[in-house]
Amino acid sequence: MGEPDFPILAPGQLRPVADRPPGDTLDSLALYPVAGEPDWAADFPALWTPGEAGAEARLARFVAGPVSGYAAQRNDPGTDGTSGLSPHLHWGELSPRQVWHAVRQAQPGELSRSWPFLSEILWREFSYHLLWHRPELPECALRERFARFPWGRDAALLRAWQRGRTGYPVVDAGMRQLWRHGWMHNRVRMIAASLLVKHLLQPWQDGAAWFWDTLVDADLASNSASWQWVAGSGSDAAPYFRVFNPVLQGERI
Ligand SMILES: Cc1cc2nc3c(=O)[nH]c(=O)nc-3n(C[C@H](O)[C@H](O)[C@H](O)COP(=O)(O)OP(=O)(O)OC[C@H]3O[C@@H](n4cnc5c(N)ncnc54)[C@H](O)[C@@H]3O)c2cc1C
Repeated sequence: MGEPDFPILAPGQLRPVADRPPGDTLDSLALYPVAGEPDWAADFPALWTPGEAGAEARLARFVAGPVSGYAAQRNDPGTDGTSGLSPHLHWGELSPRQVWHAVRQAQPGELSRSWPFLSEILWREFSYHLLWHRPELPECALRERFARFPWGRDAALLRAWQRGRTGYPVVDAGMRQLWRHGWMHNRVRMIAASLLVKHLLQPWQDGAAWFWDTLVDADLASNSASWQWVAGSGSDAAPYFRVFNPVLQGERI
């Protein structure tokens, strides 16, 4: 298999755009919580360092250690075994090529050594490929036969799931982590999403919308493709009869 090209070097200088229209100030967007409302972002600064420097530091930390245990630990939400690079990739603070080659440098030789991690980078590319070719991906089931599925829309059930009050410990822990930290481990995303869609029979679009509002790595391509994968309506999706058992899954972790 051919490997991606090396990333091109950043230009020495960027010429400012002449006659640029006046922009909005960040403060005018009123993105921060206001007094009297829960400060959903209180924990973020301790966990995330937005920007290129923060992204490079996280990549350096990952290739210096955790990457070697990735294959064994990637499915264990109790360890810090994944890269945590998703927000940085989403916001363009790192490119997939940079990540690819940093990992290859850390683990030279046979590609198979790094494959468990690098194949995840390729899942991201596949999601973009899908969104490009099927722009309806965020809204419509890719498999026609699921288009008129009789969901049991129920606002109270959806709210219980959003708030981490389903009664299933692994799901509730994940949903509360999502609210506090803006992130959830992939394994827990799959279990929580499966519960919403396959046990509670809520439309996958409602779950995707909540993830879109709360994830620091919320990404139209990866989020939509992953929700459709869980629901069984996407391309290369988990079959509709594959239902995660939220009790057994929680016990295994
Ligand atoms: C229901 C659901 C919704 C999801 N929504 C998003 C989303 O909005 N944004 C997002 O980036 N990922 C999403 N994912 C995929 C995956 O959960 C996250 O990319 C991963 O947990 C991020 O943590 P990490 O950076 O430590 O991942 P690592 O395991 O370190 O993987 C490295 C990188 O590969 C990419 N990647 C890993 N798994 C996937 C995947 N299944 N699909 C596409 N790319 C992947 C990410 O860019 C990630 O940073 C979703 C998964 C599910 C099941």
